[in-house]
Amino acid sequence: MIVATHRVKFEPVDIEIDVDQDENVLQAAFRQGYMLAHGCKAGQCSACKAYLLEGDTDLAKYSTFALSDMEREEGYTLLCKTHVYSDATIELLHYDEDTLRNANPIRTVPTRVAEIEALTHDIRRLRLTLVTPGDMPFVSGQYVDIHVPGTDETRSFSMANTAVQRDYLEFIIKLYPGGLFSGLLENGLKPGDPLDVTGPYGTCTLRERSQRDLLFLGGGAGMAPLWSLVNALAETGSKRKVVYYYGARTPRDIFYASQMSAIGSRLPNYRSVLALSEVGPGQDWNGEVGLITDIVDRLEPDLTEHEAYICGPPPMVDAAIALLERRGIPPERIYFDKFTTTASPDRALAQRR
Ligand SMILES: Cc1cc2nc3c(=O)[nH]c(=O)nc-3n(C[C@H](O)[C@H](O)[C@H](O)COP(=O)(O)OP(=O)(O)OC[C@H]3O[C@@H](n4cnc5c(N)ncnc54)[C@H](O)[C@@H]3O)c2cc1C
Repeated sequence: MIVATHRVKFEPVDIEIDVDQDENVLQAAFRQGYMLAHGCKAGQCSACKAYLLEGDTDLAKYSTFALSDMEREEGYTLLCKTHVYSDATIELLHYDEDTLRNANPIRTVPTRVAEIEALTHDIRRLRLTLVTPGDMPFVSGQYVDIHVPGTDETRSFSMANTAVQRDYLEFIIKLYPGGLFSGLLENGLKPGDPLDVTGPYGTCTLRERSQRDLLFLGGGAGMAPLWSLVNALAETGSKRKVVYYYGARTPRDIFYASQMSAIGSRLPNYRSVLALSEVGPGQDWNGEVGLITDIVDRLEPDLTEHEAYICGPPPMVDAAIALLERRGIPPERIYFDKFTTTASPDRALAQRR
């Protein structure tokens, strides 16, 4: 069957791409090397919201939390769900000139499970060996979609290793009860098993041209991309001033604590702060206690010239963005990945019952 292709122009960046009728606009942009702003890629988070200036389009199933009926009537659209049926012009609402062009083209490559290690009671380190080394060039801080074996579903996971390692991809993954993919790390997958991954995606990558002081702020599995970024700075012996805040809940949720401080031996202007939000009486903890955002607020006297990278659960990321903006970092210097769930609303609802 021949699929019709249409031309889509993006304003105000003056980029044009071809979009096949059976793919969405976001996929088409990735395929042609443009890393548009996006989040869940599943019509649930609104990070790829844009404005349709002209053209005949339709949207596949999405959540009205991401795009309300009123917004849709006004002409807003979600690029991850938009199919075009004529040439079209779309205004991008969020874009970053530093990462928009020359992205590594998205590809699907085979890997094999190399190791699964328990870092805490509910966090696993997963290492996948690339069947062909160098087959997944990425930029530190990016993520891939792992295909869940035996299903049509994928789950997004950020690389925790840096881009110089060409023969493997490493991940830090939180286990969710009944989690379609994370559940397999408990009793499904074993070394040698094949897994396909598609990528690389994402814009939570270091702005190389900047020499600003850096603030990294993460929680839970949000350690993964930040770990990659901090190690990438260490690999180049960066002299930039770096402060790395990481928040966990209880003492049993801590991992990589000694590695977090040890990295200071390779970065001359580095400081790390590990904080717990729930420390019970009698628990052995001498460090900071409280929500990681409150601790940043208390310990950082002046953030106005900083550049910030935030990764973790959506409520933590939202709270951190609000704090950093209030403390004077403009939105265009705050980069983040929200670890939104990719589970379909129906599936997530069924699991909550
Ligand atoms: C850009 C990006 C990068 C990501 N990187 C990582 C990463 O490095 N490490 C990592 O562990 N995760 C990461 N995630 C989240 C990951 O893609 C999965 O959504 C999550 O791990 C659950 O997948 P699952 O198949 O195990 O569970 P699912 O079957 O999808 O869900 C199981 C249950 O857990 C709930 N659930 C799933 N995810 C969340 C959540 N984030 N918060 C609260 N409840 C949730 C679901 O609603 C459902 O009830 C990332 C997400 C995005 C969008």
